[in-house]
Amino acid sequence: MDLTKVKKQPVLTALLIIITLIPLLIFGVSQRDKPAPNPPPPETTVEAQPVEPKGIAAIKNHTVSAGETLSTIAEAYSIDVDTILGANPDIDETLQPGDKLAILPQKGVLHTVDMGDTLWRISNMYSIDIQAILSANNKNSDGLAIGEKIFVPGGKLIARSDLPSVPVSRSAVSRVMWPTDGEFTSGFGRRWGRLHAGIDIANDVGTPITAALSGRVTYAGWYGGYGYTLMIEHNNGYTTLYGHLASFTVGVGQYVKSGQKIGLMGNTGYSTGPHLHFEVHKDGNPINPMNVLP
Ligand SMILES: [Zn+2]
Repeated sequence: MDLTKVKKQPVLTALLIIITLIPLLIFGVSQRDKPAPNPPPPETTVEAQPVEPKGIAAIKNHTVSAGETLSTIAEAYSIDVDTILGANPDIDETLQPGDKLAILPQKGVLHTVDMGDTLWRISNMYSIDIQAILSANNKNSDGLAIGEKIFVPGGKLIARSDLPSVPVSRSAVSRVMWPTDGEFTSGFGRRWGRLHAGIDIANDVGTPITAALSGRVTYAGWYGGYGYTLMIEHNNGYTTLYGHLASFTVGVGQYVKSGQKIGLMGNTGYSTGPHLHFEVHKDGNPINPMNVLP
């Protein structure tokens, strides 16, 4: 650019500055909400499509402002801290401004329907009447879909570790592989009195995610706070779950081999930075992945 020419034309200079600033204003602001925007994945063959949670229209999204804590947010919405924790499976201990939280309409638990769940089982799990659950979710039939979110009014968080534990046979899953590379940032176990049902491995958006064990893809889609999620069913009652993905390279029904690329690491759902949330389930209950990983 010829600067001497520009100097002689102050109007043109101002225009140039404004044109330069427009993208900064737009992208600068939106990036504060999404710390790591996902670049277009290079090898996507299956496009993930967000699925709106059914039945519960009253769930609000809350973006954390500086100085807010779980207690002040709970108070502002007349709910309790457990209700916030129950609806946001993967928030970090220290809330950061810009974190997004799902806010339930009243005290209770947002239950994400897992394989094998029925209304009867959910009703028993939380000791809440089936009718109360049906009316809170505007449902009149008892058909449930995996990944569907059911609001359990008055329900209290239960740790899955309180359920009968399942003995882990190492030989049955001897071929388990780590599903990605990165920094181990969070383990399986109780976090603020509830169960973190998996482990977190952090790396850049776009880091390849591979199947931990060979099996059949049973779920590929939006899974509430887990964002874009894949589930793979294996032999002997094992299922693995891969959360917060940027994209998938496999689809439901597809058979995958242990170590095969299935997607890319992302920051989708209620996630505070790019990472993989990895769960291993045995007969429907989460177990510590470290017990089966090499
Ligand atoms: Zn996690």
